[in-house]
Amino acid sequence: MAEPIIAFDGVHKVFEGSNRVHAVDDVSLTIDAGEIFGVIGFSGAGKSTLVRLVNGLEPVTSGRLVVDGHEVSALSEKQLRAVRPDIGMIFQQFNLFGSKTIAENVAYPLRLAKWDAGRRAARVAELLAFVGLTDKADAHPSQLSGGQKQRVGIARALATSPKILLADECTSALDPQTTREVLDVLRRVNAELGVTIVLITHEMDVVRYLCDRVLIMENGRAVELGDVYQVFARPRAQVTQRFVAATMRDKPSADALGRLAATHPGRLVTVPIVDDAHTDAERSSVFARHGLEARVIYGGIIEISERPYGSLTYAVTGADTAVDAALADLAGSGGYTEHDRATLPNSEGHR
Ligand code: ADP
Repeated sequence: MAEPIIAFDGVHKVFEGSNRVHAVDDVSLTIDAGEIFGVIGFSGAGKSTLVRLVNGLEPVTSGRLVVDGHEVSALSEKQLRAVRPDIGMIFQQFNLFGSKTIAENVAYPLRLAKWDAGRRAARVAELLAFVGLTDKADAHPSQLSGGQKQRVGIARALATSPKILLADECTSALDPQTTREVLDVLRRVNAELGVTIVLITHEMDVVRYLCDRVLIMENGRAVELGDVYQVFARPRAQVTQRFVAATMRDKPSADALGRLAATHPGRLVTVPIVDDAHTDAERSSVFARHGLEARVIYGGIIEISERPYGSLTYAVTGADTAVDAALADLAGSGGYTEHDRATLPNSEGHR
């Protein structure tokens, strides 16, 4: 069993001031050593604050937070300085020094940690090789692309061999292709160096590509936490359902259904993809088995944690009793949703 490397126990963070903000509200959870843990939520949900508590950039207001055996919620600023080299951080805006070379940027935390010049140079060379930027050592940040800058950020964050890497919206300024490159580097950081990664994002696509588990935050609270596949496939909280729907777009809107209903006769049924080879084969042949004709009119399937996920919407024609029998089969093996034509926009259409 993996050991927790981060443990929140009833943690609160309140920003006092003219506008009192309860940014983190009674969060209790653990993050295991070696996992890639995603934190997702809309802007203002408290994601950054939660993560900044981990390295003590923000002090905990109440509750207990233990990071790698240190109770950071009880440490002084001086004691925190001793813990921080074990926790790297990367940012959306890269936060590189524009006047320093790439090598100098990466060497910066080693200078702070008082490494001598020889060891520093060797370590910088090793880090630049790891992120594939050896040939950029003497360049300045302005000469690099966004993806390259973030790889420099990763190299710098790893300089002191941290056990934990905090990534705050680290791909939000990047295009999808570059995002993928940076996520691949993070995957290697985790797999080859064994670094635990806590990654904040507002993009479910980033979570499904990289993370083992995901936490959904809303109004400072941890509203849902689970394996990425489980959370995607059976989102419970409304906010999670909105994130999943925004990523997937596999289910037709009422307007789209109304348009489809106007041109496709039959009963309209959405069938989720079930990640079980046996059940799935049975489900995909269910309409044919009952002598029905089923036409796919909408849908989407993607891969999450290397498993298929999504849904297909069919227009099913044939005897009503046969459709009912097919739907009863589906109900027993993973469910379905039937859309009532009478409730759809512009629904005169066929039946
Ligand atoms: P997210 O990362 O999910 O966008 P944040 O953690 O940045 O959310 O912010 C959560 C809430 O805390 C917001 O209402 C934000 O305005 C507030 N907040 C964040 N940092 C501070 C601060 N230093 N002082 C006062 N309020 C803050």
